[in-house]
Amino acid sequence: MPVRLLTLNNPVNSSIKSPWLNTVTKIMAENPSDSVEDKLRLLSQRFSHRTARELDDLRHKIGQSDEQHGDWELLEYLHQVLHRLTGSAGTFGLQQFSHQSRTLEQLVKGLLQQPHNKGDKWPAIYSELQHRILPELKDLDRLLGDSAPKSAAISERQNHDNEDALLVLVEHQGAFYTSLQEELKHYGFALMSVASCAEFSQKLSRIPTSVIMIAHVSQAQACIEIRRLLQQQTPQRSISIVCFGSCPEFDSRYKIAALGIDGLFSEATNATEVAEYLQRLQTERLEASGGKVLIVDDDVDLLEHYRLTLTAAGMTVKTLGTPEAIFSVLSEFKPDILLLDVHMGAYSGPTLARMIRFQPQWLSLPIIYLSAEQDKSEQLKALADGADEFISKPISDSELKETVRTRCFRARQLANLLARDSLTGLLKHSLIKQEMANEYARCRRVGEQAAVVMLDLDHFKRVNDDYGHGTGDTVIKALANLLTHRLRKTDKIGRYGGEEFAIVMPQCDLTQAEQILEQIRLHFSGLVFQSGRNEFHVTLSAGIALLNDYEDPESALEAADQALYQRKQLGRNGVSLALAGAAKGEQQ
Ligand code: GH3
Ligand code: MG
Ligand code: MG
Repeated sequence: MPVRLLTLNNPVNSSIKSPWLNTVTKIMAENPSDSVEDKLRLLSQRFSHRTARELDDLRHKIGQSDEQHGDWELLEYLHQVLHRLTGSAGTFGLQQFSHQSRTLEQLVKGLLQQPHNKGDKWPAIYSELQHRILPELKDLDRLLGDSAPKSAAISERQNHDNEDALLVLVEHQGAFYTSLQEELKHYGFALMSVASCAEFSQKLSRIPTSVIMIAHVSQAQACIEIRRLLQQQTPQRSISIVCFGSCPEFDSRYKIAALGIDGLFSEATNATEVAEYLQRLQTERLEASGGKVLIVDDDVDLLEHYRLTLTAAGMTVKTLGTPEAIFSVLSEFKPDILLLDVHMGAYSGPTLARMIRFQPQWLSLPIIYLSAEQDKSEQLKALADGADEFISKPISDSELKETVRTRCFRARQLANLLARDSLTGLLKHSLIKQEMANEYARCRRVGEQAAVVMLDLDHFKRVNDDYGHGTGDTVIKALANLLTHRLRKTDKIGRYGGEEFAIVMPQCDLTQAEQILEQIRLHFSGLVFQSGRNEFHVTLSAGIALLNDYEDPESALEAADQALYQRKQLGRNGVSLALAGAAKGEQQ
């Protein structure tokens, strides 16, 4: 999806406190009704009911115990239940309950730490249970009834599937902005012009969650003010501010940074660099807002609560109540991070973590324990088994979201470093081949079509020879940017070799792929590159084959390469197709 560019002809200025802002405030104030809140409330009620029954059952068991039954096993069971309740109650808004439950848990833990053998009977336990623990449990029950369980309100929009950021160019008069606008068009940033602030305010209800504002440094303060307002209304909105202008002094640059803007460029920066920077900013924002999380916890209500909370914050979540299926889920879902409970009935989180690390492919998967364990030495022991971090239950919804979001972002950054080519940010050779094989298998399974493209820059050797290797690199990066913008997020783009690229386009037939590549070819040939005082153009050639028309993915890639070769013979700067009929003919 292309990034849309909204130009604002009237710079935003001190007339900011105008009816325009009122309209902004009004439109942004619409707070989409969210069934997530209702679901969370329901979960909290379910938790209270279930806990009330559980406490009742505990009291009953203790009541029934005589001196003979006042044994260690009952105490151990009690400890397990209290430990779990301490962890989950806070999440369901029962802070006081969680606090008292922890105190009681500590008391029981202290008793359990006295030397004993399994099955030992000890009359003193009977007395502890009857005279200290039973009244405490009654008190806990009261707390459950007292506090109407309120879950932390979530008013976030569930729709986080806006793939493209909106570029708002707060226009400053001058040639620089005119040429910037022109150049950005080349890079796949579609333009939407707005004549006035009033018009901008009318379009606010349609702007996506992610916005990048571009302005002269003199407008920085005004942009910050707009951002503050927009985010006040919709906190999950991501708004970046990039400023242009000369700010040579340390002091003035420091002041601009202190305002909280995200980037500062001189007006002498070339458009390729700006496009590249905006692309990176956009990718980072998208990756920061998404994330795939697998949660394994034996408390099903808690699990559901986490799932709803994180899903509402834009993350993709899978949950497992028991860990038996963990390996197949890991392989299929490929989460960015794994949240693991420490005590899960018969299973222990640390043992599972150790088991996961047996497999080399999961060595780099961040594993985070989510547990009510507060004992630092227990936490350290658990971490020694291959997990990366410990999050203590209870954790507030906002803390959970922030923690998970940051971890997912870091995990993706690292995975990207390993998988991506450093010059272009595209997939490395082996990874694009892997993607092709995955897509081939998927097409076979579901009977869909996918296109595979080989793309090569024309006479690129001449570019290096005439303008130097550095300029050559700029051309390669510009093409990578254009491809990233013009293709869908589901398309996979790889740097196959030096100036050769391979693309996999799922759910796409030859005609559609040809149309898209033809547009890209045309745009690329229109880009003006600069080297000193020289201006020049570069063209590309592409060959396309239908992935599912061949016996294996390698043959499809070979066919696309053949088509590319034909295109080069026919005079370059064009797109050729490997005909399906020819491929089938060959196979017969
Ligand atoms: P054709 O149209 O037939 O593809 O001609 P060509 O000149 O593009 O093809 P050739 O394979 O002869 O040359 C490719 C050139 O690309 C040679 C190589 O130095 C250059 N190249 C490969 N990788 C890079 C890179 O990362 N940066 C730069 N600047 N040049 C590169
Ligand atoms: Mg070439
Ligand atoms: Mg070549």
